[in-house]
Amino acid sequence: MAEPVSIALLYPELLGTYGDGGNALVLAQRLLWRGVAAEVVDVRAGEPIPRGCQIYVMGGGEDAPQSLAARELRATPALLGAVDGGAAVLAVCAGLQVLGHRFAGDDGKVHEGLGLLDCETHRDDGPRRVGEVVVTADAALDLPDLTGYENHGGITTLGAAAHPLGRVVVGHGNGAGDGTEGIVKGRVVGTYLHGPVLARNPALADHLLSSVLGPLAPLDDPDVDALRKERLHAARHPHMHMPQLASGWRRLIRGH
Ligand code: GLN
Repeated sequence: MAEPVSIALLYPELLGTYGDGGNALVLAQRLLWRGVAAEVVDVRAGEPIPRGCQIYVMGGGEDAPQSLAARELRATPALLGAVDGGAAVLAVCAGLQVLGHRFAGDDGKVHEGLGLLDCETHRDDGPRRVGEVVVTADAALDLPDLTGYENHGGITTLGAAAHPLGRVVVGHGNGAGDGTEGIVKGRVVGTYLHGPVLARNPALADHLLSSVLGPLAPLDDPDVDALRKERLHAARHPHMHMPQLASGWRRLIRGH
């Protein structure tokens, strides 16, 4: 039997606050549905990062654990080596921030990132950027609109030659006032979208998978199509959905 495709989930105990570990499960499941063997390998702080995985996934987290994750990552050339060798990376929110050149930490200090992505993250005094997000993906990626939610204090500025994942239609994304969301460099994708983003956007999951495995057979999933339709509509028309939400809560409280 062929070796399973290996998906490394980096530091789930540090970068697991927003359920982004689900992205690794989505990648593995979409392969299994196609009859391709796949495994998810959890890599915890203090453990070596395996170099032979095809995809590396990092999630969002709070400021202090995020700084620890950055320290772990910078202590080894393993992730940089894997990317040089052709691996793909999905990094969400705190994950995106630590892959940049530097980011603002919980201690008000600037922390060094891995420098894999040409971006840096700072803070302002404003409120956290929280809520549903809709993104039009960069045309070169040929992806349908992306849906997710964001929850971050950091503001990410892209380097002059860096490519964003897309442009925000609803929400903040990178929050730098230039309308950009996320960053893409080859097979490395950074985004602020939680959801998990690959559960809400299977086309992005297949984009990552095919970037390392080549073309994949399409998969039909009417449940996800319905979820996407509902989330995209709710984000674009929040005023139409709030009354439904409120009446749903009223029913729940009344018990019928
Ligand atoms: N701690 C970071 C921030 O607030 C990342 C948050 C997240 O991963 N959602 O900007």
